[in-house]
Amino acid sequence: MPERCAIVGGGLAGLVAYAALRRGGVEPGEIAVFGEDPDPAAVWRRRAAAIRQRRMRSESDGHCLPSTFPGLAVRAAVRRRSVRPLLASLLDRYHPTVAEFLDHVERVRERSGWDRSFRPRKVTRVRSVDGGFELDGDGPFRHVLIAPGHPGLAMPAELVGDARAVHAYEPHDYADEVVVVGAGMAAATEWLNALAAGASVVSVRRREPERRPLNLPRPLFTRRGLATFHASSDADRVSALRRWSAASYPPGPEWDEPIVAAAREGRFRVEASVNGAAQIVCATGFLRGFRHDPLLRDLVAEHGLRTVESWIAVDADSTVPELTDETRTLALSGACAQWAFPGADTLAGARYAAHGFLRRVKLSR
Ligand SMILES: Cc1cc2nc3c(=O)[nH]c(=O)nc-3n(C[C@H](O)[C@H](O)[C@H](O)COP(=O)(O)OP(=O)(O)OC[C@H]3O[C@@H](n4cnc5c(N)ncnc54)[C@H](O)[C@@H]3O)c2cc1C
Repeated sequence: MPERCAIVGGGLAGLVAYAALRRGGVEPGEIAVFGEDPDPAAVWRRRAAAIRQRRMRSESDGHCLPSTFPGLAVRAAVRRRSVRPLLASLLDRYHPTVAEFLDHVERVRERSGWDRSFRPRKVTRVRSVDGGFELDGDGPFRHVLIAPGHPGLAMPAELVGDARAVHAYEPHDYADEVVVVGAGMAAATEWLNALAAGASVVSVRRREPERRPLNLPRPLFTRRGLATFHASSDADRVSALRRWSAASYPPGPEWDEPIVAAAREGRFRVEASVNGAAQIVCATGFLRGFRHDPLLRDLVAEHGLRTVESWIAVDADSTVPELTDETRTLALSGACAQWAFPGADTLAGARYAAHGFLRRVKLSR
């Protein structure tokens, strides 16, 4: 059977979409996955290793399978023959280790048939043609999901080219005094890493971080919270998305106690700007918006897609309305799909987009 479906982007969001298609009965021979590395965790693994992340921020449902339940807590309970992961999960306190999560990714990769569909190639152009979409002349594919991840790391303009500066998601060790710019999860992880390595830490931040377990308020991962978001005007959506993008990291003594102890010893302080420290770790996240990604920029320009500021205005199911009908689908997943799902850059967000995509694929059978 000819390939009907294509996934552009071989990262975690691509894997989640692939697993959903497979669960929906689509065969590996009917799907082409275009990506730069056959390991779907390649990009994620490097970044998590750079900040020495040990546990996931997400909970039991932070996985790559199509159904939320059973999640990673149930699997851990079975594996360890213990109810503790389940009890922790009931209290929203189950955070799998990074090693457990990466094992899980590897299993989904193997069992789903991912490698049979993978094509090691970067796609530079998506074009609407009769019968679907051409990807750099390949195709046409009737259903395409674009999941290119973040378009790059964000560095403060004044630190670009400064030999002391390294992005938190690039490999690095710690000098005796470390300035950490930013105040989100990566920054908080880096404060603790540098302190544990014996360094003094100066935290440079524009405003006080919010403290919440997930990267967005929990209601935004529910049907009701999403319905409210989808019903709001463009202007309200933009201001909400901006508000939710403020830095945050989880509450809890495991985060607070090392900081309080280090502050007492004079090894942790907050400042408003970068001083003369030997090392500056920029925990400043990613470039934001479709204009930073050449593929998305070209897609918007070539097909006249509606955008609102830096967002592509996808429908509530993450599909691009101008290029989707009962015969074909163009969907977005990951960070670029935030107009449909504020927490698009999470595994739950990738699953949301994957379900929308699969529904469309099934409709056109
Ligand atoms: C350190 C860290 C920890 C995180 N922890 C969590 C967590 O605990 N829970 C959670 O839910 N989320 C977490 N996230 C967020 C989210 O799960 C990740 O950002 C995830 O990697 C997003 O997957 P993605 O596929 O969108 O992007 P990526 O994993 O970056 O993959 C995108 C892939 O697409 C490829 N690509 C890009 N453009 C093209 C093109 N034109 N053609 C072909 N291929 C292309 C890239 O090479 C890359 O392989 C975390 C993120 C980071 C950085």
